[in-house]
Amino acid sequence: MKSRSWMLLSAVACSLFATSAHAQPPGYQARTDRRYPQVVEFLKRLESKHPGRVSRFVLGRSDSGADIEGLRIGSGPGRGMIVATHHGNEYGSSEVALAAAADLSEQPISTMTVYVVPVLNVGGYNSRSREEKASGRSHDPNRDYPGPCGSDSEFALRSTRALAEFVARESIVSVATLHTHYPAVVYPWGFSTRDLETAHQAEFVKLVEASVVESRYETGNSSTVIYPANGTFEDFAFWKHGIWSLLFELGFSHSPRVAEIEEMVRVNFPGLRSLIETAPKRRASRHAFTGKCDDSLRILDRRDE
Ligand SMILES: [Zn+2]
Repeated sequence: MKSRSWMLLSAVACSLFATSAHAQPPGYQARTDRRYPQVVEFLKRLESKHPGRVSRFVLGRSDSGADIEGLRIGSGPGRGMIVATHHGNEYGSSEVALAAAADLSEQPISTMTVYVVPVLNVGGYNSRSREEKASGRSHDPNRDYPGPCGSDSEFALRSTRALAEFVARESIVSVATLHTHYPAVVYPWGFSTRDLETAHQAEFVKLVEASVVESRYETGNSSTVIYPANGTFEDFAFWKHGIWSLLFELGFSHSPRVAEIEEMVRVNFPGLRSLIETAPKRRASRHAFTGKCDDSLRILDRRDE
């Protein structure tokens, strides 16, 4: 009897250890083969599990013809947002967004309403391609926003226009956009300039530090840590509206396996919660770009993150 009790105790201890080593939010299970219909199913499940607390919304219609769906979580006065998969091949970022949605649905932040869009680029996500197609042409969605030093295009895609209209209409104050891979968490400015500091450098440093509580990812200015890129959402949202916008480059691969996704989730969902809790409740007051553009830096955009 004694040895049987001991074995039982050991089994319980082992399972507890296993749970903490790969701790995932309740209701979330990592997958590599999800396509958009399964993402929508996941959102529906969270909505029906948490009625009154979680509801679906439509960001807009994408060029693929599908509605871009999201979840509204909680009912606090603050307005935060998580958006994944501007780049369709970066499916690991959608997994982290779904896990964060599950976590926030289970334990909403009382002061916040958080909007989660797990897949912005629906066509690219389904075909595992970086770009998104509109009228027969491919566009990089995270080069499709207006910016002070120009961009590839300005709202050639319905998805990017819908997101820009949404953050304006819903008075969104802070946004985390999720990508793969580097790993790092970075802040504006990130376009072709040598004048990289915004007027709110200290606040941005505080925000990235909150975002890497578990992951210990590298942090810093977007251009310095990754590379300069014109027409990104993060620069647009801060420049146009003073929205506190951070870009997460998650994990170590564009094609993570299940165990790698579990690790990306484990180390990042606490940081996303911490970022949303820490972010200022009002938009930044000084968000104009007062520096000079330097077009010679454009060639440094590698377009692979
Ligand atoms: Zn990306």
